[in-house]
Amino acid sequence: MSKLAINGAKPLRDIESNPWPKWPVWGDEEKKQLIEVLESGHWSYNGPKEQQFNKAFAEFIGSKYAISAANGTVTLQLALEACGIGWGDEVIVPGLTWQATAAVILDINAMPILVDVTEDTWCIDQTRIEEAITPRTKAIIPVHLYGSFADMDAIMEIAKKHGLRVIEDCAHKQGGQWKDKKAGSIGDAGSFSFQLSKLMTAGEGGALTTSDPEIYEKLDALRNCGRRPEGKQDDQRTDGFYGDEGNFIQSGNYRITEFQAVMLIEALKRLPEQNKLRDENAIYLNSMLAELPGIKPMRRDERETAEAYYNFTFRYQKDEFKDLPIELFRQALTKELGFAVEACYKPLNQCSLYAPLTKPWRHHITEEYWEQINPARFDLPVCQRVYEEESACFHFNVLMSSKKDMDIIVEAIEKIYENCDELK
Ligand SMILES: *Cc1c(COP(=O)(O)O)cnc(C)c1O
Repeated sequence: MSKLAINGAKPLRDIESNPWPKWPVWGDEEKKQLIEVLESGHWSYNGPKEQQFNKAFAEFIGSKYAISAANGTVTLQLALEACGIGWGDEVIVPGLTWQATAAVILDINAMPILVDVTEDTWCIDQTRIEEAITPRTKAIIPVHLYGSFADMDAIMEIAKKHGLRVIEDCAHKQGGQWKDKKAGSIGDAGSFSFQLSKLMTAGEGGALTTSDPEIYEKLDALRNCGRRPEGKQDDQRTDGFYGDEGNFIQSGNYRITEFQAVMLIEALKRLPEQNKLRDENAIYLNSMLAELPGIKPMRRDERETAEAYYNFTFRYQKDEFKDLPIELFRQALTKELGFAVEACYKPLNQCSLYAPLTKPWRHHITEEYWEQINPARFDLPVCQRVYEEESACFHFNVLMSSKKDMDIIVEAIEKIYENCDELK
């Protein structure tokens, strides 16, 4: 008789009677304030809720300014534009990330340069950055992926040495802390996503953080059709536009609504406690995973003083599981536990959602430019190995439970280990 749930046996966890914590989380305060906004008629455009959120978020991150925007994709694009990056420039990004990190570079006509990651953090390999720098390089976008941090000390040093901008992609890292600084307050700008699956959410949404007043003003103009930041309009100028006469900024509308701002104000209040619970459970789970054959926990750098987890991740070693393919391992684990255990992002040099050549109507792609941006020209052996052979990832909602719930994850892995002959 089979023992594994993937073969029809009883799963280790009965999610009917014992479900995993739900995401998103919300309460009466959201309801109350959403109705307030509804009845006020002030649904958007630099409203009081948006201003309140921007102020609270800047304070929380420890940067001088925060600006909310439509999502965590345009925030990256606007940050690049605010740093003056565009046609002909190169921007360094990790090969393992959500496609948006690189796609926005194409959207501003610059060239994404893909760099491999480290095997035990899956973040950009700081030792491979300098070899990717050319006279055209203008910026680095480190991504603090899943439950890890890019090595910000090394990255800031390289950036300083070569005169590069650093835009932190913090879509996974609301509240994560490197030494005494929160993610998003270390580089020139931080970019955050508030999409539904992220650690803070308004359904959709994003924010930028910076402590540079020039970048801030430009960002504010860029997200608001090129308008001059409010409060700046009492000077000599009456036209309301940002920039020098005859040199205005052409931009679009990337604003959020007051409804989103309400959701974010409340999400931010809950975040510290949620992060603390997730981090405690993750530390506990990692300490147990370290004891299991065939499982390697991620390396947590001592400089990560508080971790934030978009996904909890670990590394699978199939030779210890009698060569059980990782797809079967993940499927078997999914069946035992009742939540999805998935692979990491597909490396950008083989990702179908990252296809730079598919916009010929928008970009003038010359032979030379195509060669430069062609993702296939980048060699990313670590990204590829992690994706194809090692990665196991699940959403952070699972970490919002008890230590006992972490024990069952370990039990499920042990159960598969002991019964992997069943899957031959
Ligand atoms: C989610 C995400 C983004 C984009 O954010 P959206 O709000 O979905 O546009 C960018 N980078 C990373 C790493 C992400 O996970």
